[in-house]
Amino acid sequence: MKVYVDGKYYDKEDAKISVFDHGLLYGDGVFEGIRAYKGKIFKCDEHIRRLYDSARAIWLTVPMSEEQMAVALHATLEVNKLKDAYIRLVVTRGKGDLGLDPRKCPKATVIIIADSIALYPEEFYEKGLEVITTATRRIPPDCLSPRVKSLNYLNNIMAKIEGIQAGCMEVIMLNRSGYVAECSADNIFMLRDGRLFTPPLEAGALGGITRNTVLELARGAGYETQEPNLTLYDLYTADEVFLTGTAAEVMPVVKIDGRVIADGKPGQATRDLRKRFMKLVGR
Ligand code: PMP
Repeated sequence: MKVYVDGKYYDKEDAKISVFDHGLLYGDGVFEGIRAYKGKIFKCDEHIRRLYDSARAIWLTVPMSEEQMAVALHATLEVNKLKDAYIRLVVTRGKGDLGLDPRKCPKATVIIIADSIALYPEEFYEKGLEVITTATRRIPPDCLSPRVKSLNYLNNIMAKIEGIQAGCMEVIMLNRSGYVAECSADNIFMLRDGRLFTPPLEAGALGGITRNTVLELARGAGYETQEPNLTLYDLYTADEVFLTGTAAEVMPVVKIDGRVIADGKPGQATRDLRKRFMKLVGR
């Protein structure tokens, strides 16, 4: 495997950054998780746009243009001879001193890793996932916007640990007002009476690329979509619940906090939207 670091390719073992990089010292940086299907990067422009928006929001200058970034992403796929891949694009604040001051880091570090995909086991798409709600609340947008896909994922990791201890692969996080925000690394949707709901971004959700895609696909297929604040009661009494994310794609949820959703099987609309999504990505 060849890893891109600041314009050069290194073998996996030799791909290294400084211990003075503020990405390591402070989680100061931004990233993207991107997928390629059959050699084509899925929603490449959208991922690049979100990365640069995240960077702008934290006063970080990405040391290359958006066009150059697209070229570097494609080149990394090509160098690794990968057609179906998971790409991790990371931009850290770069090397500085031990203080917080980002001005001490003259140049951001750009890393691109392209690897084969670690898929969720197929059985979960057929049987559906069990999730729990975590005690850990999502960071409020007025403290650090969850729309910034930053290297600071401890909030999500604390939630993930609760999931691991409960034997669940994914978890639901609420915001400080008790409304549903999102999952530790996925967005959440529910269906009720044929209408599709997902929490608004203001509730503390990342603007997921898969979330946007599924909303578009659903509207195109004639579903009414809404983005209201959702409570746990809404999820517990939903007809269907599913998650979306670059790795998960469209994943049915059949149990939340011990409550069986509908009849405990992936619902019709979830299967329909998953099928439409798979068709779109050519799988
Ligand atoms: N929420 C969080 C917190 C995430 O980290 C992710 C990405 N793994 C998502 C939602 C889903 O976003 P996307 O569809 O762009 O992968």
